[in-house]
Amino acid sequence: MKKIAVIVPCYNEEAVIAASYKRTKQVVSSLPDATEIIYINDGSHDNTKALLDEIAAEDKTVKVIHLSRNFGHQAAVTAGINNCDADLAIIIDVDMQDPPELIPDMLRLQEQEKANVIYCVRKSREGESAFKRLSAKLFYRVMNSMSEVRFPVDTGDFRLIDRKVIDEFNRLKEHGKYIRGLISWVGFKQIPFYYQREARLAGETKYPFKKMLRFGVKALLYFSKKPLSLAMSIGFTAVIVGIVLAVWFTLGKIYGFSNAETGWTSIILTVIFFGGVQLITVGVLGQYIGILFDEIKARPDYIIEETRNFVE
Ligand code: UDP
Ligand code: MG
Repeated sequence: MKKIAVIVPCYNEEAVIAASYKRTKQVVSSLPDATEIIYINDGSHDNTKALLDEIAAEDKTVKVIHLSRNFGHQAAVTAGINNCDADLAIIIDVDMQDPPELIPDMLRLQEQEKANVIYCVRKSREGESAFKRLSAKLFYRVMNSMSEVRFPVDTGDFRLIDRKVIDEFNRLKEHGKYIRGLISWVGFKQIPFYYQREARLAGETKYPFKKMLRFGVKALLYFSKKPLSLAMSIGFTAVIVGIVLAVWFTLGKIYGFSNAETGWTSIILTVIFFGGVQLITVGVLGQYIGILFDEIKARPDYIIEETRNFVE
């Protein structure tokens, strides 16, 4: 008999926990396999902790990890993966945007295809703003064109991974974890599963625009060195343009075909333009140095405060 774990990160989700648990429990208890649900409370400061403890007290197949503070979605999922001893794990959001009712089909597909990863691709997204849908669509495509790894587009962290992938994931030493990227990077047999993303059950998104942007930029920087080479290409282009113009105006002066007046506008614009280019380039460098700084400090991805129903 296989052991299956459902990994669910939660941050300030008191509005959905009870309903979410009920639906997920119903699905997993219909499975023939031994299943458990692992909730990770990512430092919530609402009633999430108490609600999860209540569930864990009644249902011993529910494990709970309380983190010492809010470490972010990716760290919470990492905590779940690191602390799961199942043969297969499913990563799912607590807000039921990814319906748990799909789990049996995902398991069936995994068995049929002998796949190591079943990644869920969003055919459509309900209840999200046009802006979020558009920016997400754009992000996955830019990411793909920039990155050294091929990523499936329109795919979040909702997926099924097997022990082989879990073990490889646990060996990864980098701290800024972009989980969907890393799981693609690991390789093995990965099969798509198409579904409709639903609207949030209740409560609000924990990814406001600023956080989403930061998440996207970080993912890009961790998986691509293109911004660095892009900065260099812009530099080279500017140098070549500069040389051509220098030759042109020098010859122009000598042979009288160019009458370059001492122009204020052109000088100022050039100064501003190249000042900008230089600052952007330094900024890009700075971003990578920031990543090096974080990685060298090598702080743990998360700190566990307490757990429920884990046997020591
Ligand atoms: N989440 C988390 N820590 C955070 C932010 C979010 O554990 O700092 C969880 C959240 O509770 C949810 C999942 O990550 O289960 C996805 O968040 P959300 O639904 O708010 O994001 P969206 O689906 O709107 O992109
Ligand atoms: Mg959501």
